[in-house]
Amino acid sequence: MAEDHGNTARQEQSTPATGPDPVRTSPRRHIRLSSHPGGTAKPVAIEWGAADPKLRGPVLGSVRDGSRRNVIGAHAGSYSLYRALAVAAGRLDPVHVPDLTDTSPAEPIGPYPQWSEPDRIVSLDPWGHMVSEVFAEDIAGGLDIRPTIAVTKAHLTVPEVKGAIEAGRLAPDGEVLTETGDVRVTKMAIEPVWYLPGIAERFGIGEPELRRALFEESGGMYTELVTRPDVKVFLPPVGGATVYGFGDVAAPARSGAPVTCRVHDECNGSDVFGSDICTCRPYLMHGIEECVAAAQANGTGFVVYNRKEGRALGEVTKFLVYNARKRQPGGDRAETYFERTECVAGVQDMRFQELMPDVLHWLGIRRIARFVSMSDMKRDSIEAQGIAVECQVPIPPELVPDDAQVEITAKRAAGYYSEDGAPSTGELRERAGRSLTD
Ligand SMILES: [Zn+2]
Repeated sequence: MAEDHGNTARQEQSTPATGPDPVRTSPRRHIRLSSHPGGTAKPVAIEWGAADPKLRGPVLGSVRDGSRRNVIGAHAGSYSLYRALAVAAGRLDPVHVPDLTDTSPAEPIGPYPQWSEPDRIVSLDPWGHMVSEVFAEDIAGGLDIRPTIAVTKAHLTVPEVKGAIEAGRLAPDGEVLTETGDVRVTKMAIEPVWYLPGIAERFGIGEPELRRALFEESGGMYTELVTRPDVKVFLPPVGGATVYGFGDVAAPARSGAPVTCRVHDECNGSDVFGSDICTCRPYLMHGIEECVAAAQANGTGFVVYNRKEGRALGEVTKFLVYNARKRQPGGDRAETYFERTECVAGVQDMRFQELMPDVLHWLGIRRIARFVSMSDMKRDSIEAQGIAVECQVPIPPELVPDDAQVEITAKRAAGYYSEDGAPSTGELRERAGRSLTD
């Protein structure tokens, strides 16, 4: 059956007793199964990696555009499900089209040669912040083309930066760092846009295997993954990235200005709440300090913040692992740090750094002078994508919290970069953390 004529989901709703008036201006529609579009699908052509955006074509993910859509999934990643709730609750008009007046980037990014170099970018749309400009005619013609990237400006007020000023490590310059200790940044929000053939190639697997796993492991959420091999672009329901740029964000691409960069994977417990079992916030803040110093020295700093909580295992798994680490016989210790994660999650890590360098290509970066990270996985994947890493900057030892010594020792043993080198067998065995009750 190509179409299901049931429309009970919207018929049965009644007006909520309280709250704003429900929005329901669109006519009820039949449910059109996108997996079996019959002869009605006329997706807008998309030629991934083409240098001319008009030839490349827009990423058209709005469900409003029905047969013209050229992607699987919907805009806004995981937040698309909140949009669905808003529609279901009658609070959002399902045919609402964003008014993009005055939303254009606060700082131009690109276009850069990397945007059309073969296989450079497979997990974001390099034109995602420029759609109002480069697809203006299509939008005027009625296509609901939405940005997948937004670029704005901000001031960061960070206690650690003020501490660095007090300690004499940083000094206000009135530009990057104001007299009151605020840091001026350009910040860029990026939603994932996956070109499935490119993602498959990056992992050395076949596209059918990738599509099947995405379909099955999401509980069959996106049938087009297996029924529409002609649709090559997927808007996955996962978190994206935010880039914080310090100094002239175009200088590396324009004139080869030296880049200082930290690629940070989200750790809400430490980054936001100051949990001391890991080094995440201290290292993030050290990265910001390094980026400020770089911008003050006529370089450019970038902190890339990826929404990959708990090594992309999620926070529930992460907290289960904390308990397993601290309750195991002998208590929390470095020698079993990765093993406990693997027991719970089945793997040590699901961040897949293979896709991470795409954002660096989008920024036009060819080399990183100072890479603020000890991770060999991150460094290797950046270099595998053709970006040189000249120097790795480890976290200063005095910034490592006591309870995070287990993590840092385990990582040194696993090959993470450290000026101290790998720990001895004795250090690995003896490095222990707090118990759950301490
Ligand atoms: Zn952490």
